[in-house]
Amino acid sequence: MSSQSSVPWYDDFVGVAYRYYDLRMNVVPLFTDRKEAASLWHDTIHPWVDPSIKIRFLELDDNYWFIMGSDTQKPDTNLSFFKELPKSENYERFKKGHGGEAYLRLGVYAKKSLDDVKKDAVCDCNHEAQDHDEGDGDICLFNSCDCKKFSSFQVNLLKKKKILTDIKFLEEKDMKNDPLVWNCLNANKFSKSE
Ligand SMILES: [Zn+2]
Ligand SMILES: [Zn+2]
Repeated sequence: MSSQSSVPWYDDFVGVAYRYYDLRMNVVPLFTDRKEAASLWHDTIHPWVDPSIKIRFLELDDNYWFIMGSDTQKPDTNLSFFKELPKSENYERFKKGHGGEAYLRLGVYAKKSLDDVKKDAVCDCNHEAQDHDEGDGDICLFNSCDCKKFSSFQVNLLKKKKILTDIKFLEEKDMKNDPLVWNCLNANKFSKSE
């Protein structure tokens, strides 16, 4: 598998979720469009050879770079994925808890408004839908809360999955030693900052 460097980079997804599901941690790149996710899976991820999938987390200050690539049985439609994201609680939980293995699945991310959800759905402000006033622009009714509008999101996981076993967390000093990471930063960070 000669030149990783000719594989195009792809970052047109909204983020990455980390969920326990089927007893293992799942790494879930998130898309807003189900069709787009399904066709990326079909064209690019399905032809990946599981043991060769590399997933890297490069930590730079409060952010991290999610970087993923693999050898493939279909080089014409191969892509490598990356996204710069803020460190989150779920990310830290995954870092501590993955145990060297995880499932890769794609997810579809949907924003939900007050009309779309059940009464006990939780808003981004941590209060339930029933604590938001349906009559008055859905403000939160807790006095101590300054939430002006109910908002929450739902992640639907696509069923198909791959098993990840090559998972690494890296710091800035390590980045030159990892070809996938180094390649990603050269293509998507250093070349653009000048
Ligand atoms: Zn709220
Ligand atoms: Zn609230």
